[in-house]
Amino acid sequence: MSYDRLQELKSGTKVQVRGKDLVVPDDPIIPFIEGDGIGRDITKATHHVLNAAVEKTYGGKRKIHWWEIYAGEKAQAKYGELLPQDTIHAISDYRIVIKGPLTTPVGGGFRSLNVTLRQVLDLYACVRPVKYYPGVPSPVRHPEKMNVVIFRENTEDVYAGIEWAAGSEKAIKAITLLNENLGTKIRMDSGIGIKPISRFASHRLVKMAIEHALRHNLKSVTLVHKGNIQKFTEGAFRDWGYELARTEYADRTIAEDQLTGAAPAGKVIMKDRIADSMFQQILTRTDEYEVIATTNLNGDYLSDACAAQVGGLGIAPGANIGDQVALFEATHGSAPKYTDKDMVNPGSLLLSAVMMLQYMGWEEAANAVEAAFTKTIQQKRVTYDLARQTEGAKELKTSEFGSAIVENL
Ligand code: NAD
Repeated sequence: MSYDRLQELKSGTKVQVRGKDLVVPDDPIIPFIEGDGIGRDITKATHHVLNAAVEKTYGGKRKIHWWEIYAGEKAQAKYGELLPQDTIHAISDYRIVIKGPLTTPVGGGFRSLNVTLRQVLDLYACVRPVKYYPGVPSPVRHPEKMNVVIFRENTEDVYAGIEWAAGSEKAIKAITLLNENLGTKIRMDSGIGIKPISRFASHRLVKMAIEHALRHNLKSVTLVHKGNIQKFTEGAFRDWGYELARTEYADRTIAEDQLTGAAPAGKVIMKDRIADSMFQQILTRTDEYEVIATTNLNGDYLSDACAAQVGGLGIAPGANIGDQVALFEATHGSAPKYTDKDMVNPGSLLLSAVMMLQYMGWEEAANAVEAAFTKTIQQKRVTYDLARQTEGAKELKTSEFGSAIVENL
């Protein structure tokens, strides 16, 4: 693949695909997008910790070769556009990529860069593990009961982005078509949004969730939907989820309503919850949930609500994953007012990097980073956001927090 303005690295080896599997070499080239605003600070700290952890864990046998690629403001400066083709090529070619937050340009009809990346690369699952790190201030009494991984569909539902403004030619055309042909009574001054949910996309998303549960010996997968109201989109998502479990995982799953007593050993329980009830359940019966598969908008709300329960978005990691391409990213935004202040918490990007190490099969390094991160927080050596909520905390800069984690490796 040739690039317009990117120079490929001379050192390191590309991650390869063999059949359905990724083959990660000991010296992988990992492209990274620094991100706008606070992206520079948190990327620097994340690289610092990861390099040290990999070196310490593997004694020089493994090493990540970081390769900078561009999106957002840096791409605008280098290419005159926010999301150059080079970047899209590099992500699909190198397959495992990590990115900082990108500022969404205001106006001009530009959709969020993040949403565009997910769509263009068909990164169909937004994966958000949410668990508690001891010492992080939380608004609930038992944050330690939370340990879920949320798989949120990334290509359909509201992310399909099909909508027309009230009064626009397309909205009027759509309303007329519907009212005249399908018996609806939509007011002519309505804005119109289309919510498509397909069997194909529901199946592949739920499949990823079930595979995760099986791989990690987790007890259940919960399908979260609003099927009581939206039967043929949300309800269909639930039905297709159960259908996939019944057909492709008949010997490895069991539906909750088929259970008499405990689940048979080795079988994942498939359950479903209506979205509004799920928001209560995750607060009141937190530890009954381990893997959640859900549609786009439900997943958007639920991911952030779960993250808030264990101490907020500043440390919530995430990844957008497709078939053999994965983009790991901080879940917060570019917080422009903190740009280059060396102040913010690099936890979200760092824990996304931990997910990346796990995805690469470098579990030992992932565990090392996670343990050192936890230890640093328990020592109350934290960035401003956690310091202001923690009694007796020592407030550190972003870079100092990174160094403290390295010390604790
Ligand atoms: P934001 O997450 O950037 O910041 C909101 C506030 O949260 C900040 O002012 C700060 O107080 C706090 N905060 C965020 N990250 C933090 C961190 N790592 N450590 C400590 N405190 C932190 O949200 P916003 O201000 O709504 O959005 C700013 C820009 O980022 C917008 O252009 C938005 O579209 C974009 N955005 C990008 C992503 C992404 O790239 N995935 C996600 C959300 C928002």
